[in-house]
Amino acid sequence: GSDSCVQCKVVILGAAGVGKTALTVRFLTKRFIGEYCPTLESIYKYQAQMDDEDVRMEILDTAGQSPGNWKDGYAMWPDCFMFVYSITDRTTFEEIISIKRQVENMRKSTTINGVLVGNKLDLLHDRQISFLEGSELADQIGCRFYEVSAADWTQVTVISDLFCDLYREYRKSR
Ligand code: GDP
Repeated sequence: GSDSCVQCKVVILGAAGVGKTALTVRFLTKRFIGEYCPTLESIYKYQAQMDDEDVRMEILDTAGQSPGNWKDGYAMWPDCFMFVYSITDRTTFEEIISIKRQVENMRKSTTINGVLVGNKLDLLHDRQISFLEGSELADQIGCRFYEVSAADWTQVTVISDLFCDLYREYRKSR
């Protein structure tokens, strides 16, 4: 109903330079009605209707900090995880496995809500990771898979979809 409000905390993880900030900004500038919170560095808040519910999303852009370096409380903060690599950089792809493992260790659970995102799809001529490899990794870590480009404004809908997807998975799991 219209009086329900759901909180959903999302953390975006991945190597430096894969486009975590670019994806967040692309998503938020389309329908950003919250405010940037200056005291909690790089937590973005936004509120929107999703599936007839009032959703308050908080998005933590980790700026390259790996989960292994998080303080204990931090590991339990997120409801959902977005794992991002660049399709043009195999190192960032391989890093996802270790990031996922760190998250599992800290949360002492292998079941998490997550999506795997291969970003920089506009740079097809520099592609190092095939779609197939990406989707196989997604199966392996139990996440849904997307390939997107944060640089391409025509992809705004796809990027919105992936955030909505995360939220829906989270709703189902509660
Ligand atoms: P972060 O360190 O993961 O937050 O990465 P940033 O969002 O800061 O992006 C790192 C660099 O990659 C910047 O120069 C971005 O402009 C660029 N970038 C991010 N996403 C894309 C993309 O989809 N395509 C291209 N071509 N460049 C991108």
